Amino acid sequence: AAGRTSHRVRAEIDLAALRGNVRALRERAAGAELMAVVKADAYGHGMVPCARAARQAGAAWLGTATPEEALALRAAGDRGRLLCWLWTPGGPWRAAIEADVDVAAGAPWALTEITAAARACGRTARVHLKADTGLGRGGCQPAEWPALVAAARAAEAEGTVRVVGVWSHLACADEPGHPSVAAQLAAFHEALAVAGRAGLEPEVRHLANSPATLTLPEARFDLVRPGLSVYGLSPAPEIGAPEDFGLRPVMTLRAALASVKRVPAGHGVGYGHRYTTPGETTLALVPAGYADGVPRHASGTGPVLVAGKWRTVAGTVAMDQFVVDLGGDAAEAGDEAVLFGPGAAGEPTAEDWARAVGTIPYEIVTRIGARVPRIHL
Ligand code: PLP
Repeated sequence: AAGRTSHRVRAEIDLAALRGNVRALRERAAGAELMAVVKADAYGHGMVPCARAARQAGAAWLGTATPEEALALRAAGDRGRLLCWLWTPGGPWRAAIEADVDVAAGAPWALTEITAAARACGRTARVHLKADTGLGRGGCQPAEWPALVAAARAAEAEGTVRVVGVWSHLACADEPGHPSVAAQLAAFHEALAVAGRAGLEPEVRHLANSPATLTLPEARFDLVRPGLSVYGLSPAPEIGAPEDFGLRPVMTLRAALASVKRVPAGHGVGYGHRYTTPGETTLALVPAGYADGVPRHASGTGPVLVAGKWRTVAGTVAMDQFVVDLGGDAAEAGDEAVLFGPGAAGEPTAEDWARAVGTIPYEIVTRIGARVPRIHL
């Protein structure tokens, strides 16, 4: 019946929306190539189906954090350009090189391990040199950059490395007008100039995450690397709403009510009795908890669409379930609760959840638990 679901809880993934988002982002990137970032199980949306959909919509590149993610894409049959950037010493460089995965290096130790692996398998590694232009995370500091570039140049001469890309990552692109953005752009241009003077000729220079792809044309260079916006979400309210950019949220998180019952006034609800019924009322049990990715911080704040209205999590979120107070409204077990979705049917969005619990939409979707089935539509 309408409004019913046979799953306890499920994340519906609208791949048509994802394809539309990739097309909208490509249009916005105006000639730059697009790398769809699919790390962390495609921000919780299911990596392989999302990667496939992104390719169908023209993502020439895919990006992952870990080598395991990149190798899983290859195992699933992906054959396109693929960059993986988060390495630790002793990582599976050889497997990545043999699988034609582009690798990132932001320090001499990485380049040393890459050249050794390339030599061992008789291949040329495709490398993207990473400059730290101000984020202060990975990547090479300006003072060490000339030495890293020189080492890469020597490896190119040896035939073990081809420097395919030079890249960096922005710290504050989601805060319009933040002075660090201009400083990072200048530092990136300087890093490119140093690389150019040393004879490196990268095919792609890349810097832009979602907020930069959406709002900073000067940061797009040859390739943009959007993640969150591929999934139809806006990085921050200051950047704009998804629809301002032609983006549609991809994930809808639905549950089937596990219980609906009348209780008297003064009834404690959930662990710690953090909620007490103000009068005789109807309580509905939503069978999704923090093991499914519903933040425990949503206790008393998280919005859920049940029986046509937004309700608020009543009491604490437990591992597998939480309660909402329907007041005088009617519902029955099996009726649908929508935690978040595109918002088109009146349901909250992932951005609403982020606001309600004091986090960012990235964390809301990425943390959806492994036991929640992703239903790709
Ligand atoms: N590039 C790199 C190196 C990243 O780590 C990420 C994600 O954090 C992205 C691009 C995509 O960022 P966003 O999801 O803000 O588009």
